[in-house]
Amino acid sequence: MAMTMAANEGVATPAIPETMKAVIKPRPEPGGTLITTAVPTPGPREVLVKVKATTVCGTDVHLYTWDAWSQGRVKPPLIMGHELGGEVVAVGEQVKTAKIGDRVSAETHVVCGHCYQCRTGLAHVCANTTILGVDIPGCFAEYVVVPEENLWFNSPDLPMEWAPVQEPLGNAVHTVLAGDVAGRTVVVSGCGPTGILACAVAKAAGAGHVIAIDLNAYRLDLARQMGATLTIKADEEDAIARVLKEVPGGVDIVCEMSGNERAMNSAFKMIRAGGRYSILGLPGKPVTLDVGNDIVMRGVTVQGITGRKMMDTWYQVANLLNSRRIDLTPMITHHMSLDQIDEAMALMISGNCGKIVLTP
Ligand SMILES: [Zn+2]
Ligand SMILES: [Zn+2]
Repeated sequence: MAMTMAANEGVATPAIPETMKAVIKPRPEPGGTLITTAVPTPGPREVLVKVKATTVCGTDVHLYTWDAWSQGRVKPPLIMGHELGGEVVAVGEQVKTAKIGDRVSAETHVVCGHCYQCRTGLAHVCANTTILGVDIPGCFAEYVVVPEENLWFNSPDLPMEWAPVQEPLGNAVHTVLAGDVAGRTVVVSGCGPTGILACAVAKAAGAGHVIAIDLNAYRLDLARQMGATLTIKADEEDAIARVLKEVPGGVDIVCEMSGNERAMNSAFKMIRAGGRYSILGLPGKPVTLDVGNDIVMRGVTVQGITGRKMMDTWYQVANLLNSRRIDLTPMITHHMSLDQIDEAMALMISGNCGKIVLTP
């Protein structure tokens, strides 16, 4: 393995085994399998990270259940997982910033650096993005290779199990902070883990009212713990009527985190004319919206949100966590090991969890 010895003088080179445990998507069908495979070798501008904590994301569930989106995108066999915290154990010979022993996380979108978007500060929508654990080998493994430019260096006092959660928290930050928030009213539609994190961001950013809407009581409870000022269980009460009762005229901001067509449409009835409707939730298929009445005539700004701004969002996330303005403790509800992948996925599908930490 090529390493820059000069950059790491005095630091003992950790022993790196030949093989490691990893959870792969072995074949184009539902499931995931724990295997023993070769430890990857970093290229000249990449590092090898020993994974200390990884968290399960909705995207991993898409791959695991092998839904239509995964079938159209993913080419098995592939090591799954993308949210990680770990330690650098080897660096490629052209790596300039990372040293052995650095505690890191990773921006999971690997971008080309050359397209129009990359050259104009919009790398999060790079035309040639590949994603860790979706297109290239991921981090549900003892080791993962990360390009140097994708590394995020963690503060030494950031709890290791918080490190992987920075990635979905980044999605939440990107969504909530895409416009003015302080003193505004916010609806978070859909309280999967990223929706719950969006409640925390809105609260931390000084929103006046943070209304969380979902069907799952467990997750609404978590949303309340993380910062929602009101939770609405949409199958038990009329969510539109309740929001309009709390905030006459409608809220300033909707964060659409569900990707559910019905939820998306009803959230348009909760926003005030001239409000901001930011969509992170990914519908599984095209959806029908009342563009004329809900968007055009009411002057609502609709924006798509993908990934995290590189690396602006990461600085915001780190500042929110290092200051403890956001405390992730309630969010981390389960700890499991890689060989419990089936259990972890079943729990994610049930919805009765926050973030599940998988430890290699
Ligand atoms: Zn994720
Ligand atoms: Zn690009």
